[in-house]
Amino acid sequence: MTTNPSVAEPSAMHRLLHARSVAVIGASEDRGKFGGRLIHNLLHHGFQGTVYPINPKRDTILGHRAYPDIADVPSPPDVAAVAVPVQHLLASLQGCVDAGVKVAIVITGQLAETGVEGAKLQDDAVAMARAAGMRILGPNCLGAFNTPAGVCLSPSVTMSVDKLHKGRVGVASQSGALQTAMFIRAFDAGIGFSSAITLGNQADLELSDGFEYLVDDPDTEAILLYVEGLKDHERFKRAALRARAMGKPVVAVKAGRTDAGAAMANSHTASLTGSFEAFSALCESLGIVVTDQPDTAVFCADALARWGAPKASGVAVASGSGGAAALAADAIDDGNFHAARLGPRAIAHLAEHLPVRKETANVDFGAYLRAFDPAVMRDTLETFADEPDVGAVLLIMTPQPAMESLVEIMRDIGSMRGVPALLCNKAGSMVRDQLEADARVTGYPTYTSLDDCYRVLEALMAYRQFQEEGLTQETGDAPAGAIDASASALSPGLLTEPEAKGLLAAAGVPVTSEVICPDVDAAVQAAREIGFPVVLKGVARGLIHKSDAGVVKLNIPDVAAVRSAFAQIQDAIADNALEAAFEGSLVTEMAVGGVAEAFVGAAWDPQHGPGVLVGAGGVFVEVMKDVKFAAAPVSAAKARAMIESLQTFPLFDGARGRPKADVAALADIVHRVSLLAAHLGPRLRELDVNPVIVRAAGEGALAVDARAVWTIME
Ligand code: ADP
Ligand code: MG
Repeated sequence: MTTNPSVAEPSAMHRLLHARSVAVIGASEDRGKFGGRLIHNLLHHGFQGTVYPINPKRDTILGHRAYPDIADVPSPPDVAAVAVPVQHLLASLQGCVDAGVKVAIVITGQLAETGVEGAKLQDDAVAMARAAGMRILGPNCLGAFNTPAGVCLSPSVTMSVDKLHKGRVGVASQSGALQTAMFIRAFDAGIGFSSAITLGNQADLELSDGFEYLVDDPDTEAILLYVEGLKDHERFKRAALRARAMGKPVVAVKAGRTDAGAAMANSHTASLTGSFEAFSALCESLGIVVTDQPDTAVFCADALARWGAPKASGVAVASGSGGAAALAADAIDDGNFHAARLGPRAIAHLAEHLPVRKETANVDFGAYLRAFDPAVMRDTLETFADEPDVGAVLLIMTPQPAMESLVEIMRDIGSMRGVPALLCNKAGSMVRDQLEADARVTGYPTYTSLDDCYRVLEALMAYRQFQEEGLTQETGDAPAGAIDASASALSPGLLTEPEAKGLLAAAGVPVTSEVICPDVDAAVQAAREIGFPVVLKGVARGLIHKSDAGVVKLNIPDVAAVRSAFAQIQDAIADNALEAAFEGSLVTEMAVGGVAEAFVGAAWDPQHGPGVLVGAGGVFVEVMKDVKFAAAPVSAAKARAMIESLQTFPLFDGARGRPKADVAALADIVHRVSLLAAHLGPRLRELDVNPVIVRAAGEGALAVDARAVWTIME
């Protein structure tokens, strides 16, 4: 056989979603069974290929010839769907392998999700499949479907709907059940999926396999991911960057806002970055919109597929109720969008229809001189849509005359003008049935919850912001040689302050000049060289809070004071209940002229990779947890934007008559720390730089303390 290397093998996901022959192991006519629903759904949604039901007890199933064993089918099927009791799983998979199957969908559950025994069985199944070059989707999954190809390989009860809407949203979900909840929510709103893939236990094929497929799928215009945890963040990143390069919006829903990072809280960094934050930060760096509600996420993905990035970040609001419009105005000002400001044309238009002058796009059709006149309402909404500051139009429809016209107007604007036009039905049953029926025909969704509308607007505007920021803000490279040299001497565990600062210095972060002194004479000598006043700090491995232990002596003016400080530090460490052994005193320059203190941190997250964070130092980081977190590395510009978005930013920006701090110097430190973290990867588990003393604008910033956790593997 000759192979042409230029023609890539189709991916397992592609093979599965474009199957032309399918064996269903555990097929049945009983829709109470997984295998029964699966084959029923496959036929119900018009599968055009060959179906091989496998069932030793039947001659035919749903009109198709049944085979007692997969070994009996006339030619190897593209895909085998396996829905057998768990005790038969290995034998069934062995049968698939022997029959030459390349991909198996394993619906069967009771595997790794149930405990050690199940996990062992699952591992055995994967090992057997891998050895034979067969890929597995699942186990414990609800299969996958491809609407345009007419391939529905899912046992979900939701697949009993009459017909799958053709749609532009592609879904990959780690949860089968949630995927079906998303599906039905979308279906009811008239939104269809191009393809949907559930990954189940991800024993073999994983989320990124689905993600990669959807990125390349011409029928998918926006991607929706339901993520519980990432197996390989580098692969996820590559898929996301590819989606971005292709202009396909991606929405991710992350399960569990629990704080995994707090498990190892040797540093603030660890306690401040849960896995949700780490995931969000990673997504932000990749231009992925994150939300925490699966069903709303469907609307977000649909809106992004439909409209992409809005032309502006202003939102125009119209309602039949002044109250509703006013409430929306308040909510809008809390989001990443604002009440749209109107230009002269729209202002003149409103002047014709309203008794009061209006400069923002927020109107109540009930207050119009010609209340609820369809032609006027259309004119207003179209005028709004054409305004430069209007990125989206939100209509809150309370019970009012001419509701049908409004629905049509909004649909026209949303479909023909390319401006997101969201209609929220607050007229309940007066129009609900009509709206749902319409949506199924037109595929144009309407909403019933204002909260959903705000989240959709947020997603659209977040995506817009990603587009504006551009793909790769140049981050440059870490000084790898210097960092590796400094890292080579370190051993696992908590680093001492000078060791942690050594890494910082290697990354080009300005640190206090300092000397570690094993005895008092060396300390005196060092203090003279550095110049008074100096600072003395005890160095002992494992000592975390130095001030609390009484081993930080600031502003030491002379030799006599150096001697007494050295003795006090030595005593304090000896008294300290810690096992920590005194390694000497660090004599450092006294950093003067600071106008603000900052906290800069870095952390490695096994699921999401390196991250960096920044906040105001001291009590602000401890009490207020006001920090910004981003996936590393970040450019200095991005670091600056992080600092500027802190609640405590006024502390750096000359609040209450203080001098403005050197934010550029701080941003540069954040940038360098991020390069350090990205270069070191899992070697640098956690790093706190606290504080960075930031001087007045133009005068720089200096790291005066650091601690780190080095290379503790999972
Ligand atoms: P720790 O955080 O372990 O208690 P630090 O080294 O951060 O110890 O010292 C405590 C505080 O002392 C710092 O937050 C900072 O305000 C101040 N400080 C420490 N080192 C210096 C220095 N070299 N120059 C000026 N102030 C310093
Ligand atoms: Mg400190």
